[in-house]
Amino acid sequence: MRTIGLIGGMSWESSAEYYRILNQGVRDRLGPTASASCLLWSFNFAEIEELQHRGDWTALTDRMVDAAQRLEAGGADVLLICTNTMHRMAGAVQDAVGIPLLHIADPTAGRIKSAGIGKVGLLGTAFTMEHDFYKGRLAERHGLDVIVPDAADRATVHRIIYEELVAGKVLPESRDAYRAVMARLVAAGAEAIILGCTEIMLLVRPEDSIVPLFDTTAIHAQAAIDLALGE
Ligand code: GLU
Repeated sequence: MRTIGLIGGMSWESSAEYYRILNQGVRDRLGPTASASCLLWSFNFAEIEELQHRGDWTALTDRMVDAAQRLEAGGADVLLICTNTMHRMAGAVQDAVGIPLLHIADPTAGRIKSAGIGKVGLLGTAFTMEHDFYKGRLAERHGLDVIVPDAADRATVHRIIYEELVAGKVLPESRDAYRAVMARLVAAGAEAIILGCTEIMLLVRPEDSIVPLFDTTAIHAQAAIDLALGE
């Protein structure tokens, strides 16, 4: 089995889900005492989100490259960035190491296309919904038509991530807010919704939407298991 290097702590609420899904997935495939071979570099997210909101992507890139190199030196065979947002610097991270980085958007797009879906709604942080690094990859590499909520809804989605989900707060009124945002995306033509922030799966379940949900946390972790087991 290959060793999976996780760049995590962004936030630890979702890194814990990655760890659970990786280990459960290896157990399901290899037997009850089997578990994932992995390394975790876990940031202090307070420092990361401060740099994000200040727009200091250069400092963030330095930190991500440093984490990736430490994981490679520690024996990782494959790298995961356990957040959609921080894939903004996926190219710099990949260039700094000799092991493959499994980009979260690629297996997600693969699942969406296998389901015969062409037009998707994207939920995530403002950085993910508004900058091009994520939507652009889905569109240009994978041919998906990606729509995002309007400005007011994007602000709501972003606020709930940073004020609640990364702090371990899962509130019913916020679930209702996400349900309403997803319903508006469906009214705008979305045939499915990407949960493009690794904490949203803590809040939203398939029954909260009338169209299929694509949970990037689960899809990314499951794709990593495939890679680690050579499948
Ligand atoms: N985990 C989140 C994501 O998938 C947000 C936290 C972060 O900004 O990295 O985008």
